[in-house]
Amino acid sequence: MAELFDSIRYLKGVGEARARLFSKVGVETIYDLLTYFPRTYEDRTRIVEICDLEVDTPACFTAMVVSSPRTARLRKGLELTKVTVADDSGKLNLTFFNQSYLTQQLSYGKTYLFYGALSGDYAGYGMTNPIVENPEAPGVQTRRIVPIYNLTAGLTNGLVTRTVQQALELCAQIPEILTPALRQKYGLCPAQQAYRSIHNPASQQELAAAQKRLAFEEFFIFSAGLQILRSRRLRHTRIPFASTDLSDFCAALPFPLTDAQQRVIGEICEDFARGAPMCRLVQGDVGSGKTMVAAAAMVCAARNGVQSAFMAPTEILAEQHYHALQPLLERLGITCVLLTGSRKASEKKLVRSSLENGSADVVIGTHALLSDTTSFSRLGLVVTDEQHRFGVAQRSKLSAKGDTPHLLLLSATPIPRTLAMILYGDLDVSIIDTMPPGRQPVDTFLVGEDMRARINAFIRKQVEAGHQCFIVCPAIEESDTESLKSAQQWAETLQQTVFPDLRIALLHGKMKGPEKEAVMASFARGQADILVATTVIEVGVDVPNASLIVIENADRFGLSQLHQLRGRVGRGTAKSYCVLFSSNRNAETQARLKALCKTTDGFAISQADLDLRGPGDLFGSRQHGLPMFRCAELGSGMQTLILAQQAAADFIADDDAKNAPEFAPLMDRICKLFENGGELFA
Ligand code: ADP
Ligand code: MG
Repeated sequence: MAELFDSIRYLKGVGEARARLFSKVGVETIYDLLTYFPRTYEDRTRIVEICDLEVDTPACFTAMVVSSPRTARLRKGLELTKVTVADDSGKLNLTFFNQSYLTQQLSYGKTYLFYGALSGDYAGYGMTNPIVENPEAPGVQTRRIVPIYNLTAGLTNGLVTRTVQQALELCAQIPEILTPALRQKYGLCPAQQAYRSIHNPASQQELAAAQKRLAFEEFFIFSAGLQILRSRRLRHTRIPFASTDLSDFCAALPFPLTDAQQRVIGEICEDFARGAPMCRLVQGDVGSGKTMVAAAAMVCAARNGVQSAFMAPTEILAEQHYHALQPLLERLGITCVLLTGSRKASEKKLVRSSLENGSADVVIGTHALLSDTTSFSRLGLVVTDEQHRFGVAQRSKLSAKGDTPHLLLLSATPIPRTLAMILYGDLDVSIIDTMPPGRQPVDTFLVGEDMRARINAFIRKQVEAGHQCFIVCPAIEESDTESLKSAQQWAETLQQTVFPDLRIALLHGKMKGPEKEAVMASFARGQADILVATTVIEVGVDVPNASLIVIENADRFGLSQLHQLRGRVGRGTAKSYCVLFSSNRNAETQARLKALCKTTDGFAISQADLDLRGPGDLFGSRQHGLPMFRCAELGSGMQTLILAQQAAADFIADDDAKNAPEFAPLMDRICKLFENGGELFA
């Protein structure tokens, strides 16, 4: 019999080719497959009448075929099969693409089960590509809660489902890490049962129980890990800074600091005056002025005789920071240098020696700061910008160049305080919740396909006025499973048919780092009019000349993520706009997107995301530098998070429990989280 950590090649039907497909989504072993949890579920247990079908809301219905199915071949590779079905409540026209075998399979006068979503408008209703099943056969794709997995080209939901079913035979081998006492106290089902139900739920209750158990376990381990990290760090001491007076810094600024900036700087100074290393996360919306907060901290550090390193995720960002801060610091008598990979070897050498001999107080740079050839004479403060772009390993590598230096992490992705307290459990959190005065809000519009021509004209108008435009698509390549706009395809289409005379650039996540940076830099220099991109543009570069962002299939993104994307524009003086395309008419979806049109407050938006969709979206957007949660995204509620954190705190406080043999498997998992570096905070 196969074992849990064997390759999935041991499963029936998985050969080399399929193993390669699974490997694309990160599944190598049987255990990987068992923890490859469905992205979502479709409850196909509800059966309605035709007259009760709602637009864009999938449902099952039983109906009789009342016309002979007909197939027309429109062009090479495109066949259209049409058939009319009816029940007592009404009639419906169905259209199938490239499924001509249905002409044989669907018999006139016979009844079938269908599953699909109604589409249509004033011109009439219809349905495209519904699933068809024989009502007598046991339901596979209908009449049950169907797990939906993340897929990739060639990997179908059916294939994943069937393969998982086999893997489930081995789930008895999954170690139970929560003791019976813990499970009882928090009302959690056993591990084995949870794994079975998460992939194959018999009812919504069973599914909820499985999600709760798995999310609890995941948060428990995560939270316990953070608490251990925190206590480890608190064992270190630092000499408190003697003076945290920043009045000359404030006087040197071209503008007064906002109240929020002053408050956060105050919080940082309090940390400096303590005898322990600071570990503080500053959250603030894009444009809230985090760079100046970092500058204040670095000035304070320099005044107290220690060096600061400010690490940015890209060269362009590092250069932007350097050009903004170097003149200011110089006026205050603080020497600031720039270290990026692309600088000349001789320049890098010079910069490195100034850090080593202590003549430079502040260095702004990229990953180049991490190299073994960079060393400091007295590194006392590490600042990371866009903290989610750095893994723990990188941050600790930089910290290790000093003697447990103070740590300041900047994040442009606001999340509600309740959630931040849990997710950043090892950090102190400061929030910049007001914007510098005079910022123009970005006007946001939600539109459907009927507005396509007008929006295209609007894009052209912006470009003709000398501005630039972002267009964001949810996918990179054409996917066969969902009708999502793909960046590659869409860029080609626009170039060929809509804007042949404009300069269109393409940016997506499959490009290599330097390639991405080059595209971004050239766009920032104004060498393209339109940048068609996936969400990789979410953070980073300032392109003040960009005045419009168009987001395709906007319903596919979480609100916080959309807000983040919107932050790419409105950074200059020009009036800026955000257009959300969505043809999804689902009432809840529309309400969600409309909420975004009404507010520009990132904290309010992430709170709305949390209320509407649970914490899952916030984890899903991968913008918070959080570890990869596997179950948290399954819609587990805040309540589970809070309970798990409490349970972890109790566990960590109880030395007897930590050393008891029954908790050994749990301790083992917690420690593993550190070893892998996970994405835990250093
Ligand atoms: P972010 O928080 O996104 O990193 P930045 O630090 O880049 O924001 O600041 C955005 C812009 O706002 C910069 O041009 C900066 O000079 C300006 N700025 C920062 N603080 C203030 C302030 N108190 N008053 C006016 N402008 C400010
Ligand atoms: Mg910034």
